[in-house]
Amino acid sequence: MLPPTQTSASSSGLAHRLQDVRTAIAAAARTAGRDERSVTLVAVSKGHEAEQISAAARLGITDFGENYLQEALPKIAALREAGLIWHFLGRLQANKTRPVAEHFDWVHGLDRLRIAERLSQQRSHLASPLNVCLQVNIAQDDKKAGVAPADVAPLAASVASLPHLRLRGLMCMLPEGLDTPARRDAYSRLRQLLVALRTSHPELDTLSMGMSGDFSDAILEGATMVRVGTAIFGPRDYSHI
Ligand SMILES: *Cc1c(COP(=O)(O)O)cnc(C)c1O
Repeated sequence: MLPPTQTSASSSGLAHRLQDVRTAIAAAARTAGRDERSVTLVAVSKGHEAEQISAAARLGITDFGENYLQEALPKIAALREAGLIWHFLGRLQANKTRPVAEHFDWVHGLDRLRIAERLSQQRSHLASPLNVCLQVNIAQDDKKAGVAPADVAPLAASVASLPHLRLRGLMCMLPEGLDTPARRDAYSRLRQLLVALRTSHPELDTLSMGMSGDFSDAILEGATMVRVGTAIFGPRDYSHI
């Protein structure tokens, strides 16, 4: 349990923004005919201090996303007692897999078998398996990471066989500048890929898609996890970190 704290101006800003995000999630889920509890909110805390993460945790957030190891590891250490669930969202380099395997609960951007094998080897046998989502380059954007849609099934089969990973589903990031119909279409295609994959991997339960600007659209297309930073914590300022 986290100690109670006095409400400061900034934490009441946080409370309001979080309430707005939760209301929007519930509304989108209702429109889609889904239970709002079928959507997990991952609060993306990159660029924000441990203090703000504890404030969000006191408001009931359990899941936090980080992109940069150097920034994330001290925050994870400082907040160890809080029992939070940590999601690694960044680009994963082969020589940086160990701290991810040791300190995170989820990895969303997996797109190479070599990285998956290292994560599985480096995950403690005593810990629960590391949850992973395969990142799909669903918009076939040259600049975006992710496996091509046609290569998802073979990668999924290999990753699912690794002992210390638990394959949970698919994730995507869309390029900037797509209009709403194009975004909905891309999210819909990711959902269809998951549906197809579930014929051979029925245990897959996660579609990680949608960020501050478009999480409602992603929920309408079936997102079960939305990764929301700015809409909860406000703009990121990297000048102090
Ligand atoms: C930074 C980031 C987010 C959150 O972005 P916002 O626009 O601030 O909500 C979500 N997913 C990934 C992979 C990110 O890198």
